[in-house]
Amino acid sequence: MKNTSITGSGNLIANLQKAEALRVHSIETFGTHDGPGIRLVIFVQGCQFHCLYCANPDTISIDGGTLMSLDQIVAKAKKQKPFFGKNGGVTISGGEPLLQRAMLKELFNKLHKEGIHTTLDTNGKVIDKQTKDLLETTDLVMLDIKHINNDWHHKITRLSNVNTLKFAEYRESTGKPMWLRYVLVPGYSDQEEYLHQLGDHFKNYKSIEKIEILPYHKLGVHKWEALGWKYELEYVESPEITSLKKASDILQQYFRRVEVG
Ligand code: SF4
Repeated sequence: MKNTSITGSGNLIANLQKAEALRVHSIETFGTHDGPGIRLVIFVQGCQFHCLYCANPDTISIDGGTLMSLDQIVAKAKKQKPFFGKNGGVTISGGEPLLQRAMLKELFNKLHKEGIHTTLDTNGKVIDKQTKDLLETTDLVMLDIKHINNDWHHKITRLSNVNTLKFAEYRESTGKPMWLRYVLVPGYSDQEEYLHQLGDHFKNYKSIEKIEILPYHKLGVHKWEALGWKYELEYVESPEITSLKKASDILQQYFRRVEVG
């Protein structure tokens, strides 16, 4: 399987910073699934992970997408602001937004000047000074936890979960809000013992407002085929209602709010 995801990303990202631009994959104007209220959702290009079930594998390569200036994005958000209501705003999703974290901080500052709420949907793989700076201007974090067990995390994403857990710990230390998201994949992330471990790990976090269980689906398979990549979960079906209920029952023992998306 070919993965060109972060080859040469250093230069590309440096160039983006000079240009005050983001490398964007696509935009959803009236999103209702990625954060509170009605939102402008910007899916950025590039990701370090290579999740077995990625529904948008065409976002993984840092070389794809198109450049969009911060001012263009802010203008779009201002135009849509009347529809945001009390809770809506802008969500940056991906791909993985943290690959462009310095630029996102600029963007979030600009959005705040316009009174627009900011949400970051991230895998939490990078936790450094620039990430911490970005988190200061991030009203809500939606942190994707792929697996609490590092071996399984590696199997699912090819990389470790250590930084993701450090990212969560840092966000907790700031006292600012966070949602967790967890994709339930039969045979991969639905093991009862690990759901308990997940709950146990986060049970004392005060910043976590809720956890969303997202049922695995195969809607992105055709994109894997188009890229010429082998889809290893070909024979894995979406979780049954009973399995979703069981996961939800377990997580309710640890989190104040559990939602199945
Ligand atoms: S973190 Fe998200 S965008 Fe990146 S490979 Fe995984 S599912 Fe795809």
